[in-house]
Amino acid sequence: MYDIAVIGAGPAGASAAIFLAKAGKKTLMIENGLSVTRRALIKNHYGVAEITGPEMIQVGKSQAETMGADVAAAQVVNIVRNGDHFEVQTEEKVYSAVQVILATGLYTDLAEHIGVQTKPGTEPRVKTVVDVDSQGKTSIEGIWAAGTVAGVSMHTIVTAGDGAKVAINLLSELKGERYVDHDVYKPEK
Ligand SMILES: Cc1cc2nc3c(=O)[nH]c(=O)nc-3n(C[C@H](O)[C@H](O)[C@H](O)COP(=O)(O)OP(=O)(O)OC[C@H]3O[C@@H](n4cnc5c(N)ncnc54)[C@H](O)[C@@H]3O)c2cc1C
Repeated sequence: MYDIAVIGAGPAGASAAIFLAKAGKKTLMIENGLSVTRRALIKNHYGVAEITGPEMIQVGKSQAETMGADVAAAQVVNIVRNGDHFEVQTEEKVYSAVQVILATGLYTDLAEHIGVQTKPGTEPRVKTVVDVDSQGKTSIEGIWAAGTVAGVSMHTIVTAGDGAKVAINLLSELKGERYVDHDVYKPEK
């Protein structure tokens, strides 16, 4: 049983998985290889001079794994509530998770299939997005959404930030107080 299943391993999904796994939550990140970020050459991400999309995705996935997340390559075809958790169904396997974050980029087919509320997108070339509240919660309790699929500006710094934001909100809700993840740099004397 996973605490959280993150669907998507683009900047939004991987960033969420990094925060969740680093906080000690049993985290699964599932992706089908169809991130739009594969096609990007990124020169506007703060703190990174230049990086290709495939490199960013690879680094994000391995960072999530280093923090303890499991990563699976699969197509999620359905998400069904089963008592106190969700069954995340892929073409080959079913995973159980207490909560789910949708970070599926331009793809809203899964969200629409499971019945979360959607609305028209406002960003260029983004037709439909998941309707989320300010926390990142969807219309289905326990299912959150982050990144392009949640309607934020389609730039890696923003989608990654949104994934982190939603993970922090989820962690804060579990903790019952605002969650902060700060490591301290101690320069050598
Ligand atoms: C040509 C191009 C150039 C770009 N250049 C820049 C740039 O210079 N600077 C910049 O900031 N941004 C750029 N972008 C935009 C940037 O790549 C995206 O805005 C952003 O990274 C999207 O992040 P995301 O995590 O929301 O979605 P994505 O990166 O698209 O990730 C979506 C994830 O969901 C997964 N997924 C979807 N459905 C399923 C399913 N049913 N089951 C399993 N997995 C699923 C996919 O596998 C993927 O891992 C560019 C985009 C393009 C297309």
